[in-house]
Amino acid sequence: MDDCIFCKILNKQIPSEFVYEDETCFAINDINPKAKKHILVIPKEHIKSLNEVKDFTLIKKMFEAITKINKQENITHFKTLINTGKDAGQVVEHLHIHILSD
Ligand code: 5GP
Ligand code: ZN
Repeated sequence: MDDCIFCKILNKQIPSEFVYEDETCFAINDINPKAKKHILVIPKEHIKSLNEVKDFTLIKKMFEAITKINKQENITHFKTLINTGKDAGQVVEHLHIHILSD
């Protein structure tokens, strides 16, 4: 998607260090962290939000990625968050799961 920050990061049009990457998703540190560790797990496919997900194996794969990222980053306690829709606080309209750990 041309006008999407996360698609631009994936396509290297905006520089951002990848914390993790596999065939389905990638992860970056949040630019404005709301916890000591704040990582965003983002599918490579542009999907607007959880409401648009058709194949939920994607969500399974994203949570498998989260457990790998947490091991890699020594995160033992954490919260996950999926803001869905502007009224719930979703700012970037490309599905993502927040990992938050204090
Ligand atoms: P949302 O509110 O949509 O669930 O979360 C979007 C998140 O993306 C926010 O926490 C925000 O700080 C983060 N974010 C927005 N733009 C960028 C960016 O260009 N780079 C990174 N690393 N994070 C971003
Ligand atoms: Zn996108």
